Amino acid sequence: MEKIASFQVDHLRLKPGVFVSRKDRFGETVLTTFDLRFREPNKEPVIDQPALHTIEHLGATFLRSHKTWANRVVYFGPMGCRTGFYVILEGDHSSADVLPLLREMLDWMIAFSGPIPGAAAAECGNWQEQNLNMAQWEARRYAKILENPAKENLNYPE
Ligand SMILES: [Zn+2]
Repeated sequence: MEKIASFQVDHLRLKPGVFVSRKDRFGETVLTTFDLRFREPNKEPVIDQPALHTIEHLGATFLRSHKTWANRVVYFGPMGCRTGFYVILEGDHSSADVLPLLREMLDWMIAFSGPIPGAAAAECGNWQEQNLNMAQWEARRYAKILENPAKENLNYPE
């Protein structure tokens, strides 16, 4: 089997940031997959599992409820390596296009209080594994990266 595109990115030179991972065309429809990289791969500790899970619940809730983007949201979920998340949006988009949406999502997560959406036994496969405080710590840290991103935070290494 050939090496898939996401394994061809040089993870030794990849910085935290937001990257276009791939664009898939299905007839007239284009889906853009974004790599929301919270961590510098293989150099920084990975995201704690409960925090990762809480960010998944909050991020999916925010994006699927968003007033202008909701109907273009295909997917939001964590990477198995726990260094970030994938977002799949309908349409042909760049990293710069989604910065305002991601900043809004992070601000919402940072300000969030109350019960975590979907954190109930009937709604989730491991509902007790949540950590809102650590998820908010992660959101604040990632928001700083997206505040004033350099080229290396928006484009994969050449
Ligand atoms: Zn869950």
